[in-house]
Amino acid sequence: MSFLQEFTDIHIELTDKCQASCPMCARNYSGGAERPFVSQHDITLEQFKSWFSINDLQGIKNFYACGNYGDPIIAQDCLEIFQYLRHSNPNMYLGIHTNGSARSTKWWESLAHALQGPHTVTFGIDGFADSHVLYRRGTDWHKIIDNAQAFIQAGGYATVDCLIFEHNEHQADDFKQQMLDIGFKQVNFKSTSRFYDMEEFAVQDRNGNFEYSLKPARTQRFKKEAVIKLEEVAANLKSWKDRVAVAPVNPKCLNKKEIYIDARGNVLPCCWIGMDWIEEPLKETLTIHGLRNKMIQDSKDKFSKLDIFNLNDADIRSRDWSNLSDIVTGSNKAWTCVKNCHG
Ligand code: SF4
Ligand code: SF4
Repeated sequence: MSFLQEFTDIHIELTDKCQASCPMCARNYSGGAERPFVSQHDITLEQFKSWFSINDLQGIKNFYACGNYGDPIIAQDCLEIFQYLRHSNPNMYLGIHTNGSARSTKWWESLAHALQGPHTVTFGIDGFADSHVLYRRGTDWHKIIDNAQAFIQAGGYATVDCLIFEHNEHQADDFKQQMLDIGFKQVNFKSTSRFYDMEEFAVQDRNGNFEYSLKPARTQRFKKEAVIKLEEVAANLKSWKDRVAVAPVNPKCLNKKEIYIDARGNVLPCCWIGMDWIEEPLKETLTIHGLRNKMIQDSKDKFSKLDIFNLNDADIRSRDWSNLSDIVTGSNKAWTCVKNCHG
């Protein structure tokens, strides 16, 4: 069976560019300067067509653009790539995750027309304008709403993902109602797990100076209890590794038959491994940095046994990932797989 017959879903990072600097996003240092490996890659229509012919796209059921470090709407050929996808396969489910703060309302109308058929565009809007700006730094709330309205009025199906913090949990219900009134079909609240067991998260400017703190939601409705205590894990790494070896994994990559393509054209089993594969070690100023560095190295070691390839110099049809199941569920599985796909 050829590689593409084994996978039905594609998650793609069309670009690693973004005009925002969300403090917990891996593209920057705590909301400040960009990390060096984020290198302004963009997948062009020409490149995309050379990777996937119309025929290749017939078996794809779900195609969504999100990624680790960029916003798909910033990619120069985002609209044209989605036009090509819809033209190639009228039944494929198309999805985009975006902060929505770029492009003109005209562009958003064109996107709604291009996506006609099963699709969803998910906007990351974290409350009303005053709250939103504390996390989605660099975006313009009013422009996002204008763009979303243009998209919805042109026939687009849009939903909201709203990250909940201490600073916006009080406005959740009013915010949800206003978004539904605008025409969004759904508003999903998400309490980020990136605080781990930290009481607050320090936001920095581009020079590394402290600006303000983000705090996790406090109310029972949105509070997320830390599953692990970082200090405990760091102090007992040996026993933690033993627990990883026997922990069950319910692999999303295999269950959903999904692959991940990053903005450089690398093909990986998922965006989590995509991150681990290209990220460089962080300066260890917090416990979480040291653990993160170990996790990255662990994934690099474990997944070096998989035939990870780049679409710019390899033909996807001839690759072989028959050992993926063993890598993600075997006794030598990666820590990242246990963390994200715990069974
Ligand atoms: S909008 Fe997305 S890609 Fe851009 S900084 Fe925020 S989380 Fe990262
Ligand atoms: S974390 Fe591991 S098991 Fe989960 S989707 Fe990624 S590669 Fe598969």
